[in-house]
Amino acid sequence: MKVDVAIPRTKLDFFTYETNENLQVGDLVIVPLRNKSKYGIVVKANSQRAIDRLKKVESLIQNKFLPPNMLSLYKWMADYYIATLGEVLRLALPSKILKKYEFKPESKTSYQLAKSPTPTYPQAGAIKQIMNALNKRTFETFLLYGITGSGKTEVYLRCVEDVVKKQGRALVLVPEISMTPLLFGRFQERFNGDVVTIHSFMTDKERRDIWYAIKNGAYKVIIGPRSTIFIPIPDLKLIIVDEEHDHSYKEHDRMPRYNARDVAVMRGKHENIAVVLGSATPQIESYHNAGIGKYKLLTLKERIDNRSLPQIEMIDLRKENNRYITDKLKSAIETTLGKDEQIILFLNRRGFAPSLICPKCGFVARCPYCKLSLVYHKPEKGNAGSLSCHICDYKTRIIHICPKCARSILLYRGAGTQRIEELLTKSLKSITDKELVLRLDRDTARKKGQAEKIFRAFETRKAKILLGTQLVTKGFDFPEVTLVGILNADVILNLPDFRSSERTFQMLTQVAGRSGRGKKPGSVIMQTYHPEQYSVLFSQLQDYPKFYAHEMKLRKELNFPPFSKLILVRLKGEKERAVHEQAMKLYTILKRIKNVKLLGPNRSFYYKIRKNYREFMILKIPKSFKHTRLSFLKTYRPHNCTLEIDVDPLEVF
Ligand SMILES: [Zn+2]
Ligand SMILES: [Zn+2]
Repeated sequence: MKVDVAIPRTKLDFFTYETNENLQVGDLVIVPLRNKSKYGIVVKANSQRAIDRLKKVESLIQNKFLPPNMLSLYKWMADYYIATLGEVLRLALPSKILKKYEFKPESKTSYQLAKSPTPTYPQAGAIKQIMNALNKRTFETFLLYGITGSGKTEVYLRCVEDVVKKQGRALVLVPEISMTPLLFGRFQERFNGDVVTIHSFMTDKERRDIWYAIKNGAYKVIIGPRSTIFIPIPDLKLIIVDEEHDHSYKEHDRMPRYNARDVAVMRGKHENIAVVLGSATPQIESYHNAGIGKYKLLTLKERIDNRSLPQIEMIDLRKENNRYITDKLKSAIETTLGKDEQIILFLNRRGFAPSLICPKCGFVARCPYCKLSLVYHKPEKGNAGSLSCHICDYKTRIIHICPKCARSILLYRGAGTQRIEELLTKSLKSITDKELVLRLDRDTARKKGQAEKIFRAFETRKAKILLGTQLVTKGFDFPEVTLVGILNADVILNLPDFRSSERTFQMLTQVAGRSGRGKKPGSVIMQTYHPEQYSVLFSQLQDYPKFYAHEMKLRKELNFPPFSKLILVRLKGEKERAVHEQAMKLYTILKRIKNVKLLGPNRSFYYKIRKNYREFMILKIPKSFKHTRLSFLKTYRPHNCTLEIDVDPLEVF
């Protein structure tokens, strides 16, 4: 008989082979491909494809290696995200899958679940609704919209408890690696070690071992980042996506550019189980889905124990001289330190200064590849410092004298977290002799365990101030924090993107929500150049529904999602002319497709990254549009360039 086999890392959906064995869908086999032996997954038995002189399947490794519902989820992904099944398998399966794994399941004695706190009235309401769906054993998606500090985690824990008691398994997706340890701790405590976590610092071997262990049913609760959504889990009953609005659920670099939240919902549908999406600032599309009944909305409107939301004070930076840390913020910091309480400071920009300029001739240090200004990183403990490009990661030695006119010393312009740390340490030195500031950004949390160490140190009050980039805006719970300072609320507003207001609102509301989560009331000071901008205004009110209503009006006027769908198509290559010509050529092809509104081709906001020039087009399509009509793009090969396809892009520039 003939079988169709999908092979990871290939730019085709499948290849057809002959076999004498009785192979079935989901079997893991070895097949010849271009004079090499490759492993693949049987995706169709009794293939009717008419091809002569077929090669033979070399061997069968394992029967029913992938369950049919996972395979159909992968196929859905390939169609929806306009990628090949080979590309999907590359992300879905661990690398070197045939290497022997050495997993020894620990023999577990029966255990007692740890005691859990009594849920509040609103929490109990949400739990009950989710439990109903769990009991009915049907697919249902919930959007748990709960303001910051309203106790979403306890709702998750309760539902997972129910699943575990009934011998089922639960999958919990978390946005960022740095967040995993804290949430993991709470689950670990509740489920006495029947929990496994996956993180990006694992070696390929560790990952493979865990993948097999989970697939063989070794754990009841699985916690991990976006790629965890691909792992087959026996008796899966519930999927939770925490902070569903978070952009780290989106694959940004490789095909298929999937969003793990959306794949989770589809997986729920394929496996006929419940899915819970949680957030204090849901993505506009998700809240809309709840509004039209696609998801069931569960709301937690109040903080637990009736704690109040923090007071937010806005400071107009246009009226201030001291623009990094204004006098108001400084005195608030001093007062808080005086009361021996903790502070979180947020600035979405790392390094010492975002640019280096010559005051005499106007020279700006730029990346030789992207032409963007280089960020100055001052030397510090264990690091020689550098000028680095935050877009392509180009790095070079620090220069002091202007290389163009040689007449002047270069000046730093603007401030990143490193500079703020220095300013704070200098100006507040007299207040405390203990460690004052912990800095958390991609420079201080580059290695395994570093972010966790910083969080633990802050949690145990080894330092008073946690200063960082967006890593500090995530859903952490530090009860002693009573002041949050936002140094520049506008950093993302300037991006040319229809989502920049939404992102700004989310980030500001999330970071503000870190204040006053314990017994003491909290406050927030927000420094901004655009106090009149609506996303800044609504985040001051901490009113998501009002922001949503306003944003939806604009989206409707422009026919942006959720009123339409977007697909971004990007061409990149080293030859500037070829990129443009190929973009124009593809434009004429796409132009012919009915019901597609084409925007572009335009130069990308970052037109050149490393050696590649980039142009892009946006396809605006009706929500009913069948993505398979664009399947030809899966194997479309533009001359001298690479084609990237991003369905439901989070960034459109
Ligand atoms: Zn100069
Ligand atoms: Zn660069």
